Amino acid sequence: MIENALRYSHTLLKSTIINGDKVIDATVGNGGDTVLLAKLVGKTGHLFGFDVQAQAIKTTKEKLLFTGLLQQVSLYNEGHEKLNLFVPANIEIAAAVFNLGYLPTGDKQIITKGETTIQAIEIILPRLRKGGLIVLTVYSGHPEGDLEKSAILEFTKQLSQDLFTVLYYGFINQKNSPPFLIAIEKR
Ligand code: SAH
Repeated sequence: MIENALRYSHTLLKSTIINGDKVIDATVGNGGDTVLLAKLVGKTGHLFGFDVQAQAIKTTKEKLLFTGLLQQVSLYNEGHEKLNLFVPANIEIAAAVFNLGYLPTGDKQIITKGETTIQAIEIILPRLRKGGLIVLTVYSGHPEGDLEKSAILEFTKQLSQDLFTVLYYGFINQKNSPPFLIAIEKR
């Protein structure tokens, strides 16, 4: 079966991240990606995770504690657009993950927004290592999701081809706007 956007994001991350890497989970949510990333960086690496919902941070902290992964993770109840305040400037980033939209089990009014998502991407891009990746799973099937989708496409389309490779991956014959993936690779 062809992998959906979320699964394919995991495939890309697994083939990019190695032990000792520093990575960012820009939208921690229920911590599914957080656990995967923490495993991939291992005890010598580090994961910086962000979410504006305190409950998401709490649930994820418990998951990491339970799986013995908390030591290689720092979680911040902060917006990803402020990540410069928390991720030391001398650290090269191997990968960053954004799972956009709202948290299905949380407050559906709290959604990621094009403007702040792009601010965070702009902070990460110059800090990505060669071959490093930013992976975005984009959900446009909710009000405002369409706006974020357009903003992200417009922004990522104009990135210099000499510096970055940008992939669009998604199903084009499915109803109800299934999530799609954008991956930005530093050349
Ligand atoms: N749509 C996905 C889940 C997305 S979760 C799915 O269906 O599986 C998105 C998370 O981003 C939420 O937990 C939300 O609280 C968080 N979020 C929203 N704005 C944010 C911001 N500016 N910085 C960090 N996290 C943010």
